[in-house]
Amino acid sequence: MNRLVIPSPAKINLFLKVVGRRPDGYHEIITLLSRIGLFDTVVLHFDQPSISVTCSHPRVPEDRSNLAYRAASLFFEALSTDDGVAIFIDKVIPVAAGLGGGSSNAAAVLMGLNQHYGLPFSDGELRKIGLKVGADVPFFLFRHVAVARGIGDDLQMYEDLPPMSVVLVCPGFEVPTAWVYKNLSLGLTNREKRFKMINLKEDFSRVKHRLFNDLEQVTIGKFPEIRSIKKALLNLGAEAALMSGSGPSVFGLFKDAQQATKANHSIRRRGRWDTFLVELLLP
Ligand code: ATP
Repeated sequence: MNRLVIPSPAKINLFLKVVGRRPDGYHEIITLLSRIGLFDTVVLHFDQPSISVTCSHPRVPEDRSNLAYRAASLFFEALSTDDGVAIFIDKVIPVAAGLGGGSSNAAAVLMGLNQHYGLPFSDGELRKIGLKVGADVPFFLFRHVAVARGIGDDLQMYEDLPPMSVVLVCPGFEVPTAWVYKNLSLGLTNREKRFKMINLKEDFSRVKHRLFNDLEQVTIGKFPEIRSIKKALLNLGAEAALMSGSGPSVFGLFKDAQQATKANHSIRRRGRWDTFLVELLLP
């Protein structure tokens, strides 16, 4: 087959603690990540003379800086071939919104190419290629809820999340991840907050005490609207609400799918923010 269609999901961070800064400038974090049911679609056309990218979203680059392009380029380099592939990305995941869309697209390209070429790379080898593209790429290749440590390369499966409905609210502006880390004062991060591998399936009410994101202080400092979104979600019955990644997207977690549906409609009716009603992608 010379064409492959690959769903490319978004992620949310249910916990994100910045642990330190390495001499090379990278931040080390501990984060709990889950994929959610909000998808871009990545289409690969094989047997092309070179690598090319087209994307339905006008602000996503179509040159070598596209993470999907970089993934294909590193894959072919590792395979020592000068083959090409045409990549089309139908973008649904809001861009630069803390939802990992670009990293997910890169992972989809790596999985698709590996499948097409007869699995030349093991999962571990593919994750190493993915890490060269970006810190979140290995997580998307892992395909489980995961605790990621370090710069994204140390992944541990986390099986203790209950099924939850997620109302995702995206305020429509973009926040560059690099800007957030640049403005993070490590002295102000919450040193007391630790990630504990506890079972959240047993008691849903524990979920809200576990949710945490060190980066909220930076992004909310500049965009207080994020606090208003959190409040709106909690007023509408969310068990907990948190900014994802470096923001600005905020998610509310609901035990009850009907209540989530109502909350989603209620926020959408205000006409101020984009909203999505989705589920956590649990295995
Ligand atoms: P990060 O993974 O850095 O936290 P994010 O999840 O907030 O980022 P993305 O949607 O992945 O946001 O986009 C971040 C930036 O990466 C965008 O501003 C865009 O210019 C660039 N980019 C490169 N490739 C892609 C892609 N395939 N999809 C979306 N953005 C891309």
